[in-house]
Amino acid sequence: MSTRHVAAAIQPVDRCWVCDHDQFDPFLQCAFEHTQFAARDPELAAYTGARLWLRRCRRCGFGQPEAVPALTHYFDRMYDQHWSDEWIESEFVSRSKDLIFRGILADLRRRVPAAERRLLDVGAHVGKFLHQAAQDGWRVEGIELNPRTAAYAARRTGAVIHQVNLDAFLMTGGQVDAVTLIDVLEHIPEPVRMLRKIRQLLKPGGWVGVKVPCAPSQLRKERVRAALRSGYQISIGTNLVHVNHFDPGSLVRALEAAGFEQATVRTAAPELSMVVGSRLRVALDDLVRMTIFLCGRWMPGAVHWPVALNLQAYGRARRGDVARAP
Ligand SMILES: [Zn+2]
Repeated sequence: MSTRHVAAAIQPVDRCWVCDHDQFDPFLQCAFEHTQFAARDPELAAYTGARLWLRRCRRCGFGQPEAVPALTHYFDRMYDQHWSDEWIESEFVSRSKDLIFRGILADLRRRVPAAERRLLDVGAHVGKFLHQAAQDGWRVEGIELNPRTAAYAARRTGAVIHQVNLDAFLMTGGQVDAVTLIDVLEHIPEPVRMLRKIRQLLKPGGWVGVKVPCAPSQLRKERVRAALRSGYQISIGTNLVHVNHFDPGSLVRALEAAGFEQATVRTAAPELSMVVGSRLRVALDDLVRMTIFLCGRWMPGAVHWPVALNLQAYGRARRGDVARAP
């Protein structure tokens, strides 16, 4: 295993972020490409050309990098994207995640009593999920760090969007009945630490809903693509955008380590094109995605098969304190 170190500093990661084990198997080398930041953030751009290995924990199966950039607020700086107003609007209008959002709201309705439906969406993006949750009868609020998407989400939903990190929100002492992390937890280093903070945000007995990619299935899909198309680059892990790589077992283990009980995981719904009057190819693509998803959802044990490309997990906030060690 070789790691190309560049001028930009890195911080080794020696213990598994989920189970604290210290034995790993490398499974993919990832590259850094931040030339777009050359003028705006030269320190971030200096990581361009660096390479790190992603490694899988031998005990719990969780995948994480062998090191992370030592640059202060590396991840916040990488996500400081200046999206256009048109792109933000298109994200809200898009129906591609409707199936995912409807499924999560239905699952939470079964778990949270009707009288106690205050929901916090962490990483609220443009507010589309909050918009649907409010229509579904939830009292909603969100956390979103990007100022442009946070402002848009507040304007479109009328909800309070906190433009602060979780630590700052915790200081407010507010508690909710449900927290959602939709395509968020794969981006935050040390996920158990984050889930512990989520648990503090929940009233005892409240529920968290987490959607993440299923890392082994996504990697298998990417390797098939790379085998079929010459020049295709596997981009999983590039820039550590996906810094956490869960499989079903390690996702449940992370929830339990953070103080959640009744943790369950199943195959999550896919994103769909959902274009009205779509061309045949788009319709066929959606049909393939739905077929793969339904196999992964309903075949017994299929959450552990390659057809489970995304994972949907829930956990109930345990009452009382939880030991610090995973
Ligand atoms: Zn582990």
